[in-house]
Amino acid sequence: MSAGMSPSRQSEITQDVIKSVVHLTEQRDELTLLRGLLESILEMLPGVPASLLCVVPAPDREGWILDQTCSLPEPLFPFADWLMAEVGSLSADAPTRQFARDGLGYLISSLGIQDGQRKAIVMMQPAWNPADLRIAEGMLKIYANFARVLFDSERDTLTGLYNRKKLDQKLSELLAGRMSGSNRKRDKDTADYLAVFDIDHFKRVNDNFGHLIGDEALLVFAGLLRHALRDVDWVFRYGGEEFVALIKGVSPGTIASILERIRVKVQGHSFPQIGQLTVSTGYTAIIDQQLPSYVFEEADKALYYAKAHGRNQVCDYRGLMSCGELAPERALGGTIELFD
Ligand code: GH3
Ligand code: MG
Ligand code: MG
Repeated sequence: MSAGMSPSRQSEITQDVIKSVVHLTEQRDELTLLRGLLESILEMLPGVPASLLCVVPAPDREGWILDQTCSLPEPLFPFADWLMAEVGSLSADAPTRQFARDGLGYLISSLGIQDGQRKAIVMMQPAWNPADLRIAEGMLKIYANFARVLFDSERDTLTGLYNRKKLDQKLSELLAGRMSGSNRKRDKDTADYLAVFDIDHFKRVNDNFGHLIGDEALLVFAGLLRHALRDVDWVFRYGGEEFVALIKGVSPGTIASILERIRVKVQGHSFPQIGQLTVSTGYTAIIDQQLPSYVFEEADKALYYAKAHGRNQVCDYRGLMSCGELAPERALGGTIELFD
């Protein structure tokens, strides 16, 4: 881009910037927002190769490796070890770095640091001119500000998991997709499931060990849950010691074994200071419910059944209904507001 550009070219660029910002700020989840950022930068700076890079510490803690669970678009250039190390060394205090290597000028900027994982955008070109640099930095600032506003409001502050508001949004999207038939090809053997987890006798933990130890147990529990599920599944802290997972596209047998595995994993974990904790789980298939609150209500009924029948167990709403352990009682048109 030249410094002495014509007014019409300037106006074109302003239009492009506005379009890019509108496109970027329309996105509501992190991966599409990241893709939107990359698309905007590639559009605004067509000659500048840019890629998103996601790294985690290597298992032996020596250096950084690509994070395979973080599915970002195909890279435009190879990620050398030294480049991954540069991304790994970005910190909240120093989120951007600019340097030259092998005749190329690199601009690397952090897009998030969480659980050791680092996401960054990498841009390079032989020589950066001030106008391109201003555009790149401007887009990154817009992204950072927007992402902060967006993600702070949808995350739980203790565990970093998504919060109840986000659950309501995801569930509404899922049901809307089902009703319009617009989501992926339906496989009759698999379904999406909602599971509610409630730690057993958690009040005793606070009573016996204090609130801080209780908080730490919630944090550890959140980590167990997150790591027991796939990247495509969604995990939420619903409130207090209650958590929710949305598990997509699995068979009835698979969902039962996933949730049982989580139950066993929690039971076998030694929580700091406390020792053993157990969890009760209720779940339901997301099939034909009219409202997000109905889906939650079904899983919650199965959870209460689990609580009333000895805790530390996994119960399926549809299974309980079909064997007559739970009776249908929802009045049509009822307005049970669980997502207030
Ligand atoms: P149940 O097996 O029936 O689920 O028993 P419970 O004691 O887990 O359930 P109850 O709903 O009676 O109590 C939940 C407790 O969770 C109450 C409160 O002390 C604790 N709790 C809720 N939110 C938090 C939190 O953010 N931090 C801590 N430390 N404790 C919390
Ligand atoms: Mg509870
Ligand atoms: Mg509980």
